[in-house]
Amino acid sequence: GMIVAGRYTLQRKLGSGSFATVYLVLDSKSKTEEQKKVLKQISVGNLKGDDTVWSAKEAQLLSCLDHPAIVHFYCSFVELQSFCIITEYCECGDLDSRIKSRWETGRLFPEGQVLEWLIQTLMGVQYLHERLILHRDLKTKNIFLKNFMIKIGDFGVSRILSGSLDCATTFTGTPHYMSPEIFTSSGYDAKSDMWSVGCVLYEIATLTRAFEANNWMKLVYKICQGPSPALPDCFSTELNDVLQSLLEKNPKKRPSATEILRIPFLEQHVKSLA
Ligand code: ADP
Ligand code: MG
Repeated sequence: GMIVAGRYTLQRKLGSGSFATVYLVLDSKSKTEEQKKVLKQISVGNLKGDDTVWSAKEAQLLSCLDHPAIVHFYCSFVELQSFCIITEYCECGDLDSRIKSRWETGRLFPEGQVLEWLIQTLMGVQYLHERLILHRDLKTKNIFLKNFMIKIGDFGVSRILSGSLDCATTFTGTPHYMSPEIFTSSGYDAKSDMWSVGCVLYEIATLTRAFEANNWMKLVYKICQGPSPALPDCFSTELNDVLQSLLEKNPKKRPSATEILRIPFLEQHVKSLA
């Protein structure tokens, strides 16, 4: 296969998203077990020289992150006029496909599984927020599974792309997971990520989207004005309470990852997972 940056051999295409093409590669400089990595080729037609330097700095920052619930970011480089990043490979695929195949069985995930995934997601988000990194595109398609564990991917990529630290108001995410404050003046912050965690929780539990509509106007209206969807009765009221707090429309009243993980109901599960 084709060799990129002198060390990554292209194996196969894993898929493509809104702004990137994703390949499975073999890293010739790694030992056998960690040889499989992911190459994300991002087309950046409008990336200027200055931004490229700045992006490299940002990439340096991301490569220092190390947490079991975070997809490891190895490095980035520019090749063939595109911005490339190398990350950890998650062989079990993303949560979105897991949810879709579960939907076909006609059975929901048991509460224990939902809780485990929720807690792992919260721990990854907490780790990012402690370092003042916003994910800004949390969705089931950006959450992966590896050895039955959650791995959050694609964080910071929008920051690398926009090439500016104070660009938190420019948002590139999927509308379904956007919080009400994005459509008002207050803009995006850590609490907006928490809203998206709520949407992800609802989706893991019910296998359907928290907010769905056949056009943008209706979707935005539901997010900003509509009632919060509740979990079906087969789930505990405690878990539904967690969902309701995450889908709180006022970001100031919405809990942080640390606050949610301290709720006794979740804390006891955190302990049993450790
Ligand atoms: P999107 O997030 O919009 O689906 P991406 O460009 O991020 O688009 O991903 C494209 C495809 O590549 C998706 O199907 C995703 O599951 C897969 N993918 C991305 N990153 C990884 C990874 N680290 N490990 C395994 N598969 C991945
Ligand atoms: Mg993605």
